[in-house]
Amino acid sequence: MLTAKAYAAPSATEPLVPLTIERRDVGPKDVLIAIRYAGICHSDIHTVREEWGPITFPQVVGHEIVGEVTEVGSEVTKHSVGDRVGVGCMVNSCRECEQCRAGNEHYCLGGNTQTYASVDRDGTITQGGYSTHVVVDEDFVLTVPEALPYDAVAPLLCAGITTYSPLARWNTGPGSRVAVVGMGGLGHLGVKIAVAMGAEVTVLSRSESKKDDALAFGAVRHVATGDDGALEALRGSFDLIINTVSAPLPMDAYLATLRPEGALVNVGAPPQPLPVSVFSLIIGGRSLAGSNIGSIRETQEMLDFCAEHGIAPETELISADRINEAYERVLNSDVRYRFVIDTATL
Ligand code: NAP
Ligand code: ZN
Ligand code: ZN
Repeated sequence: MLTAKAYAAPSATEPLVPLTIERRDVGPKDVLIAIRYAGICHSDIHTVREEWGPITFPQVVGHEIVGEVTEVGSEVTKHSVGDRVGVGCMVNSCRECEQCRAGNEHYCLGGNTQTYASVDRDGTITQGGYSTHVVVDEDFVLTVPEALPYDAVAPLLCAGITTYSPLARWNTGPGSRVAVVGMGGLGHLGVKIAVAMGAEVTVLSRSESKKDDALAFGAVRHVATGDDGALEALRGSFDLIINTVSAPLPMDAYLATLRPEGALVNVGAPPQPLPVSVFSLIIGGRSLAGSNIGSIRETQEMLDFCAEHGIAPETELISADRINEAYERVLNSDVRYRFVIDTATL
């Protein structure tokens, strides 16, 4: 067993603290990664605070991981020592169900093994990326293009793929009118990626405070949804809406901003149900959908797309002793636009 330094939640109500954890021995198909940077996703906060349900403590979270390969198992062919690699939200899946066989391991019918708070194949609970090392099956390890900035690339592994996947699935391209709701970690990457795909992008954010940034990321329009009548003025405007908001929104008001046969895709994951009137869907034949991260193949495609188009997350690099403060700032939307932990400070 290898020991690794980490930062862990001791319970749902206490701050995260330093902890030493064990990583499994490197198996024939495994890769040992020395983690350099780990992003802080809002899902990390939902999880450790048990907003999505009970978990086992202590728990290390973090599923936006980049680092270098320092050891490979005897049967590994995809990665070599010294490679710059990434790990996102999953570290394994059943590999046998129809979804896994079709390359959709993120929709594994038996449920994929998530990077943290998931029961691993050996029965242990997976521990995430706020850590110095991790051991992962090579099939779930991504190649991180050198063109992407090392200290800022980590958020692509969750926030990037989570917005790229629905944009690609709904055929975003020149002529698409796309709205991104909420401009946080996911939202700001959704804007950059949709713009690079050729779409005309509108940001729907609560206030004017992020307007200059939205336009700098390539959006053609920014609307402060907190203003009276703001959504009503947008009736019938969009082909696709990507909702990244971590709290429930009035779905009917947002659905009304879709063009006929448009789709509103939820990637934001508030624990509460969303109320919706079926008439918001029937009238105009609109769709209300959801999307969960993306497959490993699509995640690699997204990384290569971002390298080709010069897309990088906007980040604030922090030391590990600032993780708890960073959580509060995420909850107050006081982050431009993703915190990344320098794991050398663990
Ligand atoms: P984040 O950085 O906190 O961004 C969320 C944004 O939503 C905020 O910046 C804010 O944008 C807006 N917002 C927050 N509270 C709001 C409220 N009460 N009412 C209206 N708008 C509000 O979070 P994130 O890391 O991007 O994650 C967003 C959500 O996606 C979380 O629920 C997370 O768990 C989920 N997620 C899902 C997947 C998936 O696979 N589906 C993957 C990753 C994350 P403005 O300031 O612009 O209004
Ligand atoms: Zn995430
Ligand atoms: Zn499967």
